[in-house]
Amino acid sequence: MTLDPKRASPGQERLLTQWIAEVLDILERRWHNEESPPDVAHPEPLDGLILTVLSQHTNDRNRDVAFARLKGRCPTWDAAAAAGYDAVKDAVRPAGLAPTKAGRILEILRIVRADFGRYSILSLVGRGRDEARKYLLSLPGVGEKTAACVLLFDMGLPAFPVDTHIARVCQRLGFVPEKTPGEKICALLEREVPPSRYLGGHVNIIEHGRAICKARAPLCPNCAAEGLCRYRKNHCLAESRVC
Ligand code: SF4
Repeated sequence: MTLDPKRASPGQERLLTQWIAEVLDILERRWHNEESPPDVAHPEPLDGLILTVLSQHTNDRNRDVAFARLKGRCPTWDAAAAAGYDAVKDAVRPAGLAPTKAGRILEILRIVRADFGRYSILSLVGRGRDEARKYLLSLPGVGEKTAACVLLFDMGLPAFPVDTHIARVCQRLGFVPEKTPGEKICALLEREVPPSRYLGGHVNIIEHGRAICKARAPLCPNCAAEGLCRYRKNHCLAESRVC
């Protein structure tokens, strides 16, 4: 069945659910087919949290270099806390915004140590997604995207991180109005998509956003989901433009 996105409104939940599912099916066939839950990336999710803080406003390579430098100089979080601000700042410099990130990392370590008695947030996993998310969001420098990444990739809990690519693709497809903030898109996807599809959906929409639904100029004629896209109907076909 092909859905007409113009007929799917937020009040038409069943249509919206089917519409999103059909887009995910198409992207799965185009990109990666993965429905299994993610492997937990780090045995200790605090590692994943610090890595995700380092990833803010930089690329994966710079993030990884900074994290490796930090772990190389401070193999444990006890050591990082003891090393202090200047040492952590110098170690994470490749990730950019080193003063801000070093301050946040040390503050996160201080709070975690105070709350859990050690440098570990592993016990958060047993509290479930909503409690774990609430705690993560209470930490300095941790927003919705960072929290969702840690939940999904480091805790094995069901969350749908929304980055700039996912926000843009969802807005163009018409799942949400333009300029809808990431946390609202995240809430919608977590409501409308089965948890088993969170990882695959996250990965595939990002891939699609990078390769086809590009920020500056979407390659609509090459898009496998064009028949389900509101942007395509409103901006290209309606005006008989090639875009
Ligand atoms: S049809 Fe165009 S705007 Fe719509 S999802 Fe595909 S590339 Fe993006």
